[in-house]
Amino acid sequence: MCVDKHAIGKQVDPVDRLQIKDNTGKLISIAMTHAHPHDHSHPTQPVVQFDLLRTDPPVIEAGYAGSHARRGTLVLNHGMVQTPIFMPVGTYGTVKGVMPSSLEDMGAQIILGNTFHLWMRPGLDVMQSFGGLHDFERWNKPILTDSGGFQVWSLGAMRKITEQGVHFSSPVNGDKLFMSPEVSMQIQTTLNSDIAMQLDECTPYLSIEPKTKGQITTEQEARTSMEMSLRWAKRSQDEFARLENPNALFGIVQGGMFEGLRQESLEQLVAMDFPGYAVGGVSVGEPKDEMLRIMAHTPHRLPWHKPRYLMGVGTPEDLVEGVAAGVDMFDCVMPTRNARNGTLFTRFGDLKMRNARHKADHGPLDSTCTCYTCKGSLRANGTISGGFSRAYLHHLDRCGEMLGPMLASIHNLHYYLNLMREMRAALDAGTFGAFRQQFKADRARGV
Ligand SMILES: [Zn+2]
Repeated sequence: MCVDKHAIGKQVDPVDRLQIKDNTGKLISIAMTHAHPHDHSHPTQPVVQFDLLRTDPPVIEAGYAGSHARRGTLVLNHGMVQTPIFMPVGTYGTVKGVMPSSLEDMGAQIILGNTFHLWMRPGLDVMQSFGGLHDFERWNKPILTDSGGFQVWSLGAMRKITEQGVHFSSPVNGDKLFMSPEVSMQIQTTLNSDIAMQLDECTPYLSIEPKTKGQITTEQEARTSMEMSLRWAKRSQDEFARLENPNALFGIVQGGMFEGLRQESLEQLVAMDFPGYAVGGVSVGEPKDEMLRIMAHTPHRLPWHKPRYLMGVGTPEDLVEGVAAGVDMFDCVMPTRNARNGTLFTRFGDLKMRNARHKADHGPLDSTCTCYTCKGSLRANGTISGGFSRAYLHHLDRCGEMLGPMLASIHNLHYYLNLMREMRAALDAGTFGAFRQQFKADRARGV
């Protein structure tokens, strides 16, 4: 595989910085990017700046122990992200069934792309001809790409993992292919994502290997895997620097369900000085209490001045607990996948669209929701577009109409993004503890 380093993206002159006020009035410094692809006299400086604005509680209060929750801003090459944030998943270069304009309307600030799938189709030649994923999918805000490691690992019997990397057969055309930390960095450089992820080995809760299938991963197995991920982190970092990728590379903490291994992993990654860190290998089939135990252990031990990303989590309740545990960034397929299955998230609990009780209901999914599906939007000519009843959404579901999952996806993503917006507002106002209680009470009420 060959990547033309002159075509991989913009170089950054670290001298040029812009002083601007963010939306809370705080003065921040932003690096300006210039395209001078043939000029290598300037050192390449990744553009990522994380500013911590508030913590919970803002001042010590009697009777409130507080949490690890924090409010911040993250500046990336394609714009600023307000944290804590949820990132909609756009696996194949599209958030399934949702137009980019709808994503913007609902306040999406950063979305995911999938390195493995985009490598398979349309392939790197097409990606390179568009200068990366942004122009190809017509999304001009930040993008985070995963490393592709999880998909390769998920191929099971079709792949062989070695220290050097993973040999596998393409699920698209059977070609013999090889994924390594270097290859992952080359692909993500071609995609020009604002945040790239190191290649890691996902440590499963239950083994999927033929000899040990279904067995719980032992501490020794988790250690072996975690240590290889650390070596791959270093190789990812070296290749990312060699490619002069102007974006940000995050390291990923592994270690399975073992706090001691998690601690070792994070300490060694922190020593490598990544601009941000993820907690991986959670939500991989483990019981809920195990997931919550790791979520409570790891995020707040990561450097306070860098963004923290909890990969692949989770339910609305997980997001609130994750923020309380000190997480800044989340992604999950749940809002879009559940939407396609007719499960809707609302402030007052989850709702099954297929349920016959909605058949003649004129009310919206969630009377407090301001999304296009529930409330509609005002058009330039003064009329309202959208604002659908449960009866109509139930009807679309019964008839298998395409608009059903599209409207459900808009609502569910809006719900997730709005939940994060409400948490940011509560952190700004110093009322996160009260928010957390109200959230639980509302969700338990039932819809
Ligand atoms: Zn809605």
